[in-house]
Amino acid sequence: MASAGPSGHQQTDCISHGIRVHPETRCPDRAFSMLSVEKEFKKTKKIKSIGPGVPITSDNVRIVCISDTHSRTNRLDVPAGDVLIHAGDFTFHGGMGEVQAFANFLATQPHKHKVVIAGNHELSFGYCDGFCDIRTFKRLLGSTGVDSMKQKMQELNINHPRELLPKDVVYLNNSAATVCGLKMWGSPWSPYFHGWAYNAQRGKEILKIWDGIPSNTDVVITHTPPVGVGDQISSGDRVGCVELYTTLKERVRPQLHVFGHIHEGYGLYTDGTTLYANASTCNINYKPINNPICIDLPLPEGFSKEDVRVEAGMSNHEVSREFLQQQSNVSQSGGCAGCFQWRL
Ligand SMILES: [Zn+2]
Repeated sequence: MASAGPSGHQQTDCISHGIRVHPETRCPDRAFSMLSVEKEFKKTKKIKSIGPGVPITSDNVRIVCISDTHSRTNRLDVPAGDVLIHAGDFTFHGGMGEVQAFANFLATQPHKHKVVIAGNHELSFGYCDGFCDIRTFKRLLGSTGVDSMKQKMQELNINHPRELLPKDVVYLNNSAATVCGLKMWGSPWSPYFHGWAYNAQRGKEILKIWDGIPSNTDVVITHTPPVGVGDQISSGDRVGCVELYTTLKERVRPQLHVFGHIHEGYGLYTDGTTLYANASTCNINYKPINNPICIDLPLPEGFSKEDVRVEAGMSNHEVSREFLQQQSNVSQSGGCAGCFQWRL
């Protein structure tokens, strides 16, 4: 059953894993007020990342978070740590040269483990997974964009650009891994934005992605922020995902959520339960000026820092049967007018 919400948007009665789609899911600003997100975060404001000079101890896992580097890693100074996390948008358009350069950057990093997700800018990743259509390529890269990408992949003898990443990289795509005993789950999806890669409609469609997060996850990595936390664009509007916020707050309650996407929202925040790190390295003008965010989490008992186990996640096939159908019905508006507009 569907009924009209207070602002005239369609409200669904969809409840999944105990999480209900918010009636104002398409207007994050209104949802933000109704959910009293501000009150939750009032006591803590922004908090500071660990400085690179603080020694790494044997009983803590040092997690170094970066995101939205957009092919600007040349002069990026990444502090030492046990785990390096990149929360997506390592390129501008996902070109093979860009992916290779990112792979070279990762290969030179000294961290024991590297965990990576894609973002909406990784068009080639989205295209190969079936979540970025040909019209987007033509609009963003010209009519020869797809052909040129396919040709380069053929020359490189790969079927998917993720094959260019170093073999020891833990690449998460709606999937989980246990790293240093910490249960991690990562996803490239974000709320719909003009058909870039991995765009889902707000509401029940994107909630189905978040349903895949196991409830015992310690570290959640998504490209999108949740509503109300590091999600404010320069106009003052909030554009984070409402269903991600409620899923994390009410069901998963992770120790750490790492994301990026909204460059202006860079910083570390907490509500007392979860640390939220918007690790966007680039600012709104795509200048890589924000420092990596370092966090220490206790090493879970019985695990060593060498431990890593990658688990199978939701396959693209499983996601695509459901989502491609829905994406073909997507309107070109990302939400209500004036509430969901931001520049790239
Ligand atoms: Zn970005």
